[in-house]
Amino acid sequence: MEVKFERLKDNINTLAQIGRQEDGGIYRMAFTPKEQEGREWLIQQLKLANIPSQMDGALNIVGRLENDSNRTKPAILIGSHIDTVPNAGALDGALGVLVALECLTRINEENIQTSFPLEMIAFSDEEGRFGGMFGSRALSGQLNPGILEEATDLDGHALKDVISALGFEPYKALDASRLSEEIKYYLELHIEQGPVLDVEELSVGIVTDITGLFKWQVQLTGAANHAGTTPMELRKDAFMGLADFAHEIPRILDENGSEDSRLTVGNASLYPGSANTVPGKVEFSIDSRDVNLEVLEEIKTACRKTLSAIARRRGLQFDFNEVSVIEPVACNEAIKKSIEANAKKLAYDYKLMPSGAAHDAQMMAKIAPIGMIFVPSKNGVSHSPHEWTDWHHIEKGANLMLNTILDLSK
Ligand SMILES: [Zn+2]
Repeated sequence: MEVKFERLKDNINTLAQIGRQEDGGIYRMAFTPKEQEGREWLIQQLKLANIPSQMDGALNIVGRLENDSNRTKPAILIGSHIDTVPNAGALDGALGVLVALECLTRINEENIQTSFPLEMIAFSDEEGRFGGMFGSRALSGQLNPGILEEATDLDGHALKDVISALGFEPYKALDASRLSEEIKYYLELHIEQGPVLDVEELSVGIVTDITGLFKWQVQLTGAANHAGTTPMELRKDAFMGLADFAHEIPRILDENGSEDSRLTVGNASLYPGSANTVPGKVEFSIDSRDVNLEVLEEIKTACRKTLSAIARRRGLQFDFNEVSVIEPVACNEAIKKSIEANAKKLAYDYKLMPSGAAHDAQMMAKIAPIGMIFVPSKNGVSHSPHEWTDWHHIEKGANLMLNTILDLSK
């Protein structure tokens, strides 16, 4: 059985018009009228496909296909998100939702009686206008009133005001949570957002794990002083501390990391920040990722020891705060096996690979076994209007998802 690819293509192109601006980018940020327009369009598509739908309290759209014999069984959820970053491309999130829609539509058209109900889901605010993975966090029971009360976006808009302005009741998001007994599996197809499949010219990736991460904001404090009169050996130059640390990154990963480990200093500010002053303070970020929690902990310890030693040597004070921690999750064995068996059956070349980016699946792992399919990102580009995947890869990814759903719902 195959998806109707022309219909999927039309849907991808149509949704990509919602929120598109003159610069070619898509602006369908979470809880904006454009994202809401996307939801309404999606509800319309579900209606056309004769799939009953509803919106839960966290503004997730759920389309459910069930029959008399499977109604009380746990459901297989398939989805992703339709919100975007500003100036986005057409596929991040949207592709996973539209593939889920197409799969359910096909199964409904063929009147196939699955043993478990199937649900298409479009999560709200995956991209993090208000912290990220809001909808999947709510559905997996990881939301609390404090988060709803305090969350604001970068412009200072409060989450609860923004939801109210759309005409919804913000605290209803707490009602979106579901029990693990209600969910058999969660499946997500997503663009890779990295270069691996594109470089290796593969159509599909089977995700083994989703990386966890820790983010630190680090401060090294020395003494700001005159760049001309302060001898080199008498300086407490905070920037040199950062330079030393940057130099140690390969060693930290060689000694403590795995081949999947990443460590990035993506943001740094020097103070006072004038060309003729020795920088007395540097603030910088550390973002480190791996698929193994213990490895991540070891990298953390190594960063702390390394920065302490550098601070001692250069007469600096070292402080940091942990901005966020997300634990890595492993994909479910049975789901991975099914995806792999179906890739073989369809004669698709594939690769088993970790996901370096976070996804709704990571939240869903709290209450359900998860599995993910990747399709290639051309040149590894994402979060950009240049984000793209060749149609023939999309078609294969969608057919692999359809066959996997049919297999797992037998
Ligand atoms: Zn995404």
